[in-house]
Amino acid sequence: MNLELSEEQGAVRQLAEDFVAREITPHVVEWDRAESVDKSIVKKLGALGFLGLTIPEEYGGSGGDHLAYCLVTEELGRGDSSVRGIVSVSLGLVAKTIASWGSEEQKRQWLPDLTAGEAVGCFGLTEPGTGSDAGNLSTKAVRDGDDYVINGSKMFITNGTWADVVLLFARTGDTPGHRGVSAFLVPADAPGLTRRTIHGKLGLRGQATAELVLEDVRVPASTLLGPEGKGFSVAMSALAKGRMSVAAGCVGIAQAALDAALRYAGEREQFGRSIASYQLVQELISDISVDVDAARMLTWRVADLVDRGQDFATAASTAKLFASEAAVRAANNALQVFGGYGYIDEYPVGKLVRDARVMTLYEGTSQIQKLIIGRALTGVSAF
Ligand code: FAD
Repeated sequence: MNLELSEEQGAVRQLAEDFVAREITPHVVEWDRAESVDKSIVKKLGALGFLGLTIPEEYGGSGGDHLAYCLVTEELGRGDSSVRGIVSVSLGLVAKTIASWGSEEQKRQWLPDLTAGEAVGCFGLTEPGTGSDAGNLSTKAVRDGDDYVINGSKMFITNGTWADVVLLFARTGDTPGHRGVSAFLVPADAPGLTRRTIHGKLGLRGQATAELVLEDVRVPASTLLGPEGKGFSVAMSALAKGRMSVAAGCVGIAQAALDAALRYAGEREQFGRSIASYQLVQELISDISVDVDAARMLTWRVADLVDRGQDFATAASTAKLFASEAAVRAANNALQVFGGYGYIDEYPVGKLVRDARVMTLYEGTSQIQKLIIGRALTGVSAF
């Protein structure tokens, strides 16, 4: 693995860093308090090609490799995890899955708009009764002539109220468990689909997280993504790459924690000296730095495996597990460096703690990542 960035990779990272400084950082506190980022950010992300990274140019993407995608994701996560999540879902979970599994017609219908930021995608897997055990979902799609009629509900759906298309997972036929699941591309304005924003989140407050209810939603059979009954494979392939993107976002959080802790420790004086001069403060800062480096290397390894066409699923779980726990630790350590000022939202680190916390929960909790890694090592599934 080559740890030197190419000229293009360095340039795209710089582009993302400049974008964050100009379009995101000035608004972070305001968006967090208002529980919504400004939706115009989506088109701006699209204009710079950030919503088309790794998508082929013929479908409106900007091409590029997965390391470049991770670099951009890290910079966005360093700026605001809510914005990072919009990209990770609309591009990482939805557009990329359409590019991998979609028919030519589905690619032409959705990818140019998704990559341009003219449309937003959301990923509808979790239900009120099934989170970790996603293969047991109960939303049902029943074939009726050339259509399917879908009934059920989805919970915690990122981009849910903003989305134009829902990558929806539903049970087709009577086969129990994950083998009976199929994937659909449901237009969000389909009659019978209602969406409710979930308010009061601890973190990622700028993101539109929603509950979706589907009552007799009728969609043509051409909306099926991938073969009928293969929906769980569609979901798992999306989530494996999604975990790489979450890991990269966590590196961004940890890096932001390091930046903030270093800056503050250099400015703040107690007992007549800079707090940066105290060994116990240096311990907090060096612990953050080690977490940043280790999480970044694990994440880059996944990108390298993906770009070389190698098996990357276990490496992605490893990176996601470590980076998410590291982001929580790093943000907490940074808050400690800030003392009481870390506890109020005029300073950046409290938000980092709140945003980091969910990273150990979604796209597979830390426990589920350990079971995936354990299964790969022992050959025995414990779930
Ligand atoms: P449960 O599955 O009920 O887990 C509860 C606890 O039990 C956890 O600690 C878990 O680790 C543990 N547990 C469960 N099973 C086992 C086991 N076999 N062994 C050991 N421990 C176990 N979902 C989507 O589909 N799309 C989205 O866009 C999306 N975005 C989200 C955004 C946010 C802000 C949040 C909070 C969630 C989002 N989710 C989304 C849902 C998320 O993926 C689920 O919350 C997650 O998978 C966990 O499911 P659960 O909350 O039902 O917890």
